[in-house]
Amino acid sequence: MKKFLVWNLFANFTSNFITIMTTINQLRAPFEMPALPWAKDALAPHISTETIDYHYGKHLQTYVNNLNGLVTAGSEFAEASLEDIVRRASGPTFNNAAQVWNHTLYFLQLSPAPLSRPTGRLAEAIDRDFGSFEGFVEKFTASALGLFGSGWTWLTADGEGKLAIENESNAGNPLAKGRRPIMVIDVWEHAYYIDHRNARAASIGAFWKIIDWKVAQERY
Ligand code: MN
Repeated sequence: MKKFLVWNLFANFTSNFITIMTTINQLRAPFEMPALPWAKDALAPHISTETIDYHYGKHLQTYVNNLNGLVTAGSEFAEASLEDIVRRASGPTFNNAAQVWNHTLYFLQLSPAPLSRPTGRLAEAIDRDFGSFEGFVEKFTASALGLFGSGWTWLTADGEGKLAIENESNAGNPLAKGRRPIMVIDVWEHAYYIDHRNARAASIGAFWKIIDWKVAQERY
């Protein structure tokens, strides 16, 4: 019985790992909702069930539906991966594809039992490029707070692994500029209005409690 439980834990961990690493790269039309690796109430009180119902259940579902309406059989991106579409498309196809890509990473990097700070190569790179983990958190928070209107604040890496904090408006995704997304916070009001009303700072504070550095490390 004990052996079975341990195997189950291992199998769950392995399948979550594979899901997170492959989901975003391999998605192609027809697009489906990414499966959440936790229950809808698992992130409370940091993110409520109601926010998951709207943000994941309605906003992301709408982007998935819109994208499927745009990338139809025989159209330019019918055979392309989601990542390819984000790199090459423009207009409504870019906007909806990037919103599907961005939200997939956003939700899959959150966890009710996160690794609370980076270790290994990513921790070393954060110390090198931002002075310390605390210094990074401070700079990333200030950047996310300062983003005017709707958008995303990203931790990205270049080809040499040098890290940067980058704000993107609306659906913006650093892949379109040849940079690699490592982690991201959604600062659209729809991400926090139910739980925090207008208080973006409070929503960023909550984000630090549930961001799983294990996922960021896998992407670095
Ligand atoms: Mn969102």
